[in-house]
Amino acid sequence: MQTYDVVIVGGGISGMSAAYTLFKRGLDVLVVEANDEVGGSMQSLTTAEGYVFDCGPNTLATKEPRMWAEFADLGIAGRMVVSGRAGKRRYFLKDNKPLEIPNDPLGMARMEHVSLKGKLRVLREPFVPRATGPDESVASFFNRRIGPEVMTRMVDPFVSGVYSGDPSKMSIKATFPAIWEAEQRAGSVIKGFLSAGKGKKKDAAKGPKMRSVTFSFEGGIATWPKAIARTLGPRRVWRQARVSDLFHESGIWRLVVERDGRAETVESRAVILATPAYAAADLVADLDAAAATALRGIPYSSMAVVNLGYRRNQVTHPLDGFGVLAPSCEGRNFLGLLWASSLFPPFAPEGRVSTIDMMGGTLNPIREEQSREELIARAIADNESVLGASGTPEAVNFTRWPKAIPQYNFGHVERIATLEQLERTRPGLYFAGSYRGGVGVPKCWKNAVELADRVANNFVGRPEQISTK
Ligand SMILES: Cc1cc2nc3c(=O)[nH]c(=O)nc-3n(C[C@H](O)[C@H](O)[C@H](O)COP(=O)(O)OP(=O)(O)OC[C@H]3O[C@@H](n4cnc5c(N)ncnc54)[C@H](O)[C@@H]3O)c2cc1C
Repeated sequence: MQTYDVVIVGGGISGMSAAYTLFKRGLDVLVVEANDEVGGSMQSLTTAEGYVFDCGPNTLATKEPRMWAEFADLGIAGRMVVSGRAGKRRYFLKDNKPLEIPNDPLGMARMEHVSLKGKLRVLREPFVPRATGPDESVASFFNRRIGPEVMTRMVDPFVSGVYSGDPSKMSIKATFPAIWEAEQRAGSVIKGFLSAGKGKKKDAAKGPKMRSVTFSFEGGIATWPKAIARTLGPRRVWRQARVSDLFHESGIWRLVVERDGRAETVESRAVILATPAYAAADLVADLDAAAATALRGIPYSSMAVVNLGYRRNQVTHPLDGFGVLAPSCEGRNFLGLLWASSLFPPFAPEGRVSTIDMMGGTLNPIREEQSREELIARAIADNESVLGASGTPEAVNFTRWPKAIPQYNFGHVERIATLEQLERTRPGLYFAGSYRGGVGVPKCWKNAVELADRVANNFVGRPEQISTK
């Protein structure tokens, strides 16, 4: 039987980042990943024509010095592709046309997405009384604080673009804890952020300042988890290996791993479950029924991603930005049409452009019976009607995500509290992943490395006793 300090179940960015942090801290780690390749949702490919297509997430944004340091350490800092001005220019769809979202307050005053009445309503935000209930839906919160028009035209497409969620079901407290907290603390989101900003300025004087940068890597976003796997090596990263059972006996964790057609057991002093919530539920079902129920209660949106590559002269729109997000009131079947090669020019060959159609989401789910051909045809039609594309794209890739993004709906805070309770009663068991603390890749990374730091500290401080504190 093989023995490790920490076994990490799941080789998505959460699991790989936790493993890398523990490895750098000198611990013996094993990542067990069910798929052929690490990365989880982060999957990229290069087509025969030379397009780089990201099949899931496509953009990263951070100002974390520690993340930059990790890239340097992994030897991929030189492979970063940073977006230029295009990364700053974003569009929302209005009456089927992409309209630019201004970045500056003066531009905001002029923008056509919202009527004068809608803009004036935002100015009343500081005078709207704070909520007294324990939680509220994202839609109700923003309707109340900044008015229904800005909620529908500005917040909804953002929420759809990032969470592919239903704002009337999502919990404000779980999805946007900082915004919820600002209202609770200052009685207004605007006042809350202004006062927090003053505090931050004081703190910033003490440490290095970094601007947020939008980036990917040569070869696509999956370059990052693959680089971690290369550094850890095959002894520490098992692909095509699935954890099917988990036992806790006399302070030791035993995991049953299925690989190469047989089952073997590995032992460790700590386990990080870095799988999606529904997979973690199966693993803890015999340990704690309440935690399994909490994990199963986290719904996931279904999505499809269609990457298309065209000759430049096939598309009339200048594609001078990040892409266009669609508010649900526009009644389109896509959440966003992203202009991948504008953001990252090396992702399309010379004289070519590429787009990503993100479709589905909680409000407009991708159904099993919808065929690949039907969804690709829809993506081509979206590009024709919104971006003036014509003719057949020369490169196409289709990815179905039946369980794409976890939804932080009502009850999410309580579900996570149930997991925390299990972490306290079962020392050495930890939960990580996009259902906890944020769905974006940078948030998953941050939560995973902070968790790994805590796990490593427990090993160093108290070699025989691991705790969640
Ligand atoms: C279509 C789409 C677009 C997105 N766009 C963006 C974006 O542009 N920017 C951004 O920041 N974020 C984006 N996200 C969100 C982000 O990609 C995810 O939240 C993040 O990658 C999740 O990482 P994770 O490691 O927590 O989970 P996952 O990536 O889901 O990894 C979990 C891993 O666990 C493995 N596993 C499951 N069960 C077992 C088992 N029993 N044994 C072994 N292994 C197991 C799975 O095979 C999987 O590899 C997007 C997500 C999707 C789906």
